[in-house]
Amino acid sequence: MSRVYNFSAGPAMLPLEVLEEAREDLLDYKGSGMSVMEMSHRGKVFDGIIRKAEADFRKLVGVPDDYAVLFLQGGGWTQFAEVPMNLTKNGTAAYIVTGNWARNAAKEAQKYTKVVRVASSEDQNFSYIPDCSDLDIPEDADYVYICENNTIYGTEYFQLPNTKGHVLVADVSSNFLSRPIDVKKYGLFFGGVQKNVGPAGVTIVCVRKDLINPDLPDYVPTMMRYQTQIDKDSLFNTPPAWGIYVCGLTFQWLLKQGGLAEIAKKNEAKAKLFYDTLDESKLFKGTVRRQDRSLMNAPFVTGDKDLDAEFIKEAAAQGLESLKGHRSVGGMRASLYNAMPYEGVVKLTNFMKEFEAHHSAV
Ligand SMILES: *Cc1c(COP(=O)(O)O)cnc(C)c1O
Repeated sequence: MSRVYNFSAGPAMLPLEVLEEAREDLLDYKGSGMSVMEMSHRGKVFDGIIRKAEADFRKLVGVPDDYAVLFLQGGGWTQFAEVPMNLTKNGTAAYIVTGNWARNAAKEAQKYTKVVRVASSEDQNFSYIPDCSDLDIPEDADYVYICENNTIYGTEYFQLPNTKGHVLVADVSSNFLSRPIDVKKYGLFFGGVQKNVGPAGVTIVCVRKDLINPDLPDYVPTMMRYQTQIDKDSLFNTPPAWGIYVCGLTFQWLLKQGGLAEIAKKNEAKAKLFYDTLDESKLFKGTVRRQDRSLMNAPFVTGDKDLDAEFIKEAAAQGLESLKGHRSVGGMRASLYNAMPYEGVVKLTNFMKEFEAHHSAV
C-alpha cells in the first residue's frame, strides 16, 4: 500500500485511522454479519450508529439542546436553497459575498427571498474578508449569510460579522470541525462533509429549532423541510447510512485526540509552517491578504503559468498530489484539512524550497 499526501480541496483526505477502522468493519460490522452498507436503516444496529454519531457531534461541537443536528443529502448546493426556504419569514436576507460559494448561495436564495448584498470582496478577486463590523443590514432581514471559509480563494473569517442582532447563517463546508466554535452565535450552520469530515453524500445541518418558519409555503418539498427531518431524527427516508457511519468514526477520532481545541492547535501548526515558508520564499507568493489567510485552503502562485505547471507535475511525482489551484485563482492550492498530517506539510514545504533552489538561478 502506498498512500500519497493528497492536498485536494474536496473530496479530500480522511484520517488513516478512520479508513482502517472502516476497513475492519467492512464485511461484518461488529458481529452483525453484514456491512453498514447492507443493513436496514430501520434496524437496531444502524439506529445505534446514527444516535452515537449525533451524540458525539453534539459533544464535540458543544451543541445546545435547542438546536437540531441533521444528517441530510444534497450537498452544500441544496442548502443554498433550503436555508432561505425554511428561514424566510419577513422575506429579506442579507448576504456577504466573499467568493464563488457565497455568490452562488445568494443567487440561489433570490428564488425564495429578497437578497441584499451587504458586503463583498469581489473588487479584489475575493482576496480578503471585508470589514463586517458596521454593515448596513436591512431591519427586517431574516438572517445574515456568510461562507465562513472560502475554499477557492483561501480566505477565512477569524471574527464573525456584527449582525446587529440578526441571525447568522454560515456555510462551514470547508472549515467544518477544524476549530472550536460558539454554536450560540449561529442560527444555523451547515457543511457538506466531503471536505473535512467524511465521504461525499452527507450534509450536516445544525439549526436553532425556533428559527424555522412553521408555516412554509406549499411549494417547499417535503424533503427540503427541516421539520420533516427533525420529526424523524434524520430518518424520514433512507439516509446516506455508510457516510453517516464514517462521519461518526471521524467524530470519535477527533474526540480521542482531545476535541476541537486540540485539532485547532495542529491545524495552526500546519498552516504556520506553510505560510512561513511562503513568506520566506522569493519564488512563491500567496494570493490572500495576510490576516485573512485560511488555515484550511492556501492558494499560491509563482507568477509564471509554465513554472506553476512544472511545480504541480514534479510535486505529484513525489507523492504530493492535487496541488493544482482552482481556475479562478490559478497556480496552486494546498488544502490542509484535519486529516493532513504535519509530515505532509513538512514534505510539501521542503519540496517548495528544493524547487525554488533549482528554479531561481535566472
Ligand atoms: C464545496 C463547497 C460547497 C459545495 O458543496 P457541494 O456539496 O458540492 O454542493 C459549498 N460551499 C463551500 C464552502 C464549499 O467548499
